[in-house]
Amino acid sequence: SVFQHATFYTTVNELHCLPPPQGVEIAFAGRSNAGKSSAINSLANRGRLAFVSKTPGRTQHLNFFQLGHNRFLVDLPGYGYAKVPFGVRQHWEHLLSTYLETRESLYGMVLIMDVRHPLTPLDRQMLAWFASTGKPVHVLLTKSDKLARQQAEKIRKDVLAFLRETYPQCSVQLFSSLTKEGVEEATAMLGKWLGR
Ligand code: GDP
Repeated sequence: SVFQHATFYTTVNELHCLPPPQGVEIAFAGRSNAGKSSAINSLANRGRLAFVSKTPGRTQHLNFFQLGHNRFLVDLPGYGYAKVPFGVRQHWEHLLSTYLETRESLYGMVLIMDVRHPLTPLDRQMLAWFASTGKPVHVLLTKSDKLARQQAEKIRKDVLAFLRETYPQCSVQLFSSLTKEGVEEATAMLGKWLGR
């Protein structure tokens, strides 16, 4: 898999510190605790890769992992903490919205949502920032192991129906870092995005 050899590349908290836009980037977005780090680690097939993003001082950063020559996975800061100071939130909004709207090398966004709590207001905010780009969005509905099959599948269809209106290039799948459901499907999709 393209993710097998992922290595930490750089961490960025200011737009002017972004690496030059070369090659292909895939951004991973999601609310804190939705299972983003676990999903990245399952895809990368190695223990604690994305937990780099959780080390103190990096939680509000864009954390870049290199997947191969000019191929990057960008772990965006998790959102939804109740008590983020106003200034931090403003900085976050500016950084994220500008990155999502204008980053030339960004191919598509992977949006991570807990299958039990999809499409929170901040998820919708992230999607809204990305809408104008016309770029693809792939949703991982994580923790699928927590719901019965039929229930999870109904949510998947509902989320897809909702997104289809605005994002012709969207796809939605179930995912579990626990059972590894959906790892192959996600790997195939992202491999396509990365041109592999
Ligand atoms: P992040 O904050 O979005 O990076 O979320 P984490 O990956 O740290 O996961 C948050 C919590 O959810 C942790 O306690 C994980 O063990 C748990 N978790 C993550 N993915 C899954 C999953 O697929 N199934 C289950 N049952 N728990 C999960």
